Amino acid sequence: MIGDYRNESLPTSFDADICIIGTGAAGIAIAHALAGSSLNLCMLESGGLASERESQQLYEGSSVGALPCDPAASRVRAFGGSCNFWGGGCIPLSELDLSRRDWVPHSGWPLSYAQLQPYYERAIEFCRIGNLGFAAGSFLAPLPREPLEFDERTLVNRTFVSAPVLFGDAYRAELEQAANIRVLLHANLLELRATDDGRRVGQALIGSLDGRRGLVRARHYVLACGAIENARLLLLSDAGCPRGLGNRHDLVGRYFMDHPSGVLGSILTDAADRIARPYDRRLNKDPVPAFPEISLSETAQRDYHLLRARIHPFAMEGPVPRGLQALRALRAKAHRPQQDESEALKARVCAATTSDPSRFGVVAEQTQPTARLALEAALGAGDIARAFARKLADRPTVSTDHVDLIGYFEQAPNPDSRVTLGDECDALGQRKVRVDWRLTPLDTYSYRTAAMLCGGEIVRRYGGVFRPASWLAEDADAPAQVHGTAHHMGTTRMADSPLEGVVDRDCRVHGIDNLHVAGSSVFPTGSWAFPTLTIASLSLRLADRLRLLLSRPVAG
Ligand SMILES: Cc1cc2nc3c(=O)[nH]c(=O)nc-3n(C[C@H](O)[C@H](O)[C@H](O)COP(=O)(O)OP(=O)(O)OC[C@H]3O[C@@H](n4cnc5c(N)ncnc54)[C@H](O)[C@@H]3O)c2cc1C
Repeated sequence: MIGDYRNESLPTSFDADICIIGTGAAGIAIAHALAGSSLNLCMLESGGLASERESQQLYEGSSVGALPCDPAASRVRAFGGSCNFWGGGCIPLSELDLSRRDWVPHSGWPLSYAQLQPYYERAIEFCRIGNLGFAAGSFLAPLPREPLEFDERTLVNRTFVSAPVLFGDAYRAELEQAANIRVLLHANLLELRATDDGRRVGQALIGSLDGRRGLVRARHYVLACGAIENARLLLLSDAGCPRGLGNRHDLVGRYFMDHPSGVLGSILTDAADRIARPYDRRLNKDPVPAFPEISLSETAQRDYHLLRARIHPFAMEGPVPRGLQALRALRAKAHRPQQDESEALKARVCAATTSDPSRFGVVAEQTQPTARLALEAALGAGDIARAFARKLADRPTVSTDHVDLIGYFEQAPNPDSRVTLGDECDALGQRKVRVDWRLTPLDTYSYRTAAMLCGGEIVRRYGGVFRPASWLAEDADAPAQVHGTAHHMGTTRMADSPLEGVVDRDCRVHGIDNLHVAGSSVFPTGSWAFPTLTIASLSLRLADRLRLLLSRPVAG
């Protein structure tokens, strides 16, 4: 059942077998796996069914690092979580991603690909991807266009798919109907209170923005609030443990990572279309489309001591004829969504996290009056007819004259890249988050080297001239011009030793018997892979673990 905690007819406090905090991909995956079981679940969700300004404001905080990371513009505080705005990109991790790499400090998961593989199968079902084959590091789905060929010692193609699912929409009915699940909307976790011996969580203090306060008493607790908030909530849970829960070794919030992305350079070529078209996402209309990505080969990673990277080629248009410009602007006006709160937030979040150069430019054209645009389109009917003919011939509507290479990178785990608490408080009286996002020299070295390897290899095979971006062409100390992609990871990393990680290989917080963490905050390293498929896999694995733990008799 789904209820609103602000509703006075509901009790203020609840008992459950498992209290899941957060209804994003991670929380919903666990609830889905346990729906209809004999276990009682209480799920806390800070937001409502759609995004709302007041709930979203609880995500505000400061960004103080070398690179900006606006915590309110890179996630969504509502039922269904940040995946309400996601791109659906899914791909499994590779064996190298999970292994210890001598050249990447703090790398190595305590789990192997073989241990994750059966959960990837279940996660693929959960993400409604269908029965596409997959292997470590790639889907095996057929592609509509042949990707480029490379010297495989340098570059390889890897395939990802776009899942057609928004978890909140897809699983809302199931959560509503499951007799063993209670979802409380507008119910914020304020603090987890440990028992006197500090070995267990005894209760979760909860509250709504309109002042209701209460608690949830559960046998097990799962934090599933995304990588920034999981750390914040542990740090806020400081009654009886001044550094915060699970933070005996000062690791909570450290190793904060994203997938940094930036323009690596341009290839000046008359084969722009040939190079970029196999990777153009607009051209695959399958219900579960599969897309290739150019990825650094494992050989190149080992030989040059690089982080993982994918590089996406975008064919850049030459001058756009006026008639076509006007038609595009008219279309953009017609398709402009109603600017309700949710759409406005979506526009803000997506603009802050995208690197797709084709998204720029259209916005400026939309500001012209409709009548004027219609006249220009009519006068430019010839331009439009020519563009249409090109499209029918499976060519781009406007001729292209260069390719921009956009890189998306794994980030080196870095203890100084971290989430802490600031001094300001939010509307619930909780200290706001402070994000200090930092790179290491290995990151910038990887950008530089990957740009040269990828640009060089494409030019060698397909002709043209590669011009690295100016920030890469300058001296090695030039600041990296990259931005985040809202794939927050790493703040409660997984390790067998409590000296090296916050949770163990079962996602249980070291030293606290009944507290678990779901989501990418447990990732020790982040690959370039979109994180949500792995988040879902680990969550389904955690659900199995909780089922097992709760089937054991309670120690008297
Ligand atoms: C624009 C955009 C595009 C993206 N595209 C992709 C993509 O293509 N592929 C991919 O894999 N990933 C993508 N991501 C990342 C993806 O959204 C995250 O990996 C995913 O949402 C993480 O799921 P989660 O359940 O761990 O956390 P979240 O989705 O962040 O969910 C956390 C939940 O906890 C709730 N919550 C927070 N604090 C509290 C509290 N105190 N009390 C109660 N509830 C609380 C929130 O309201 C939310 O519902 C994208 C993200 C964005 C923003």
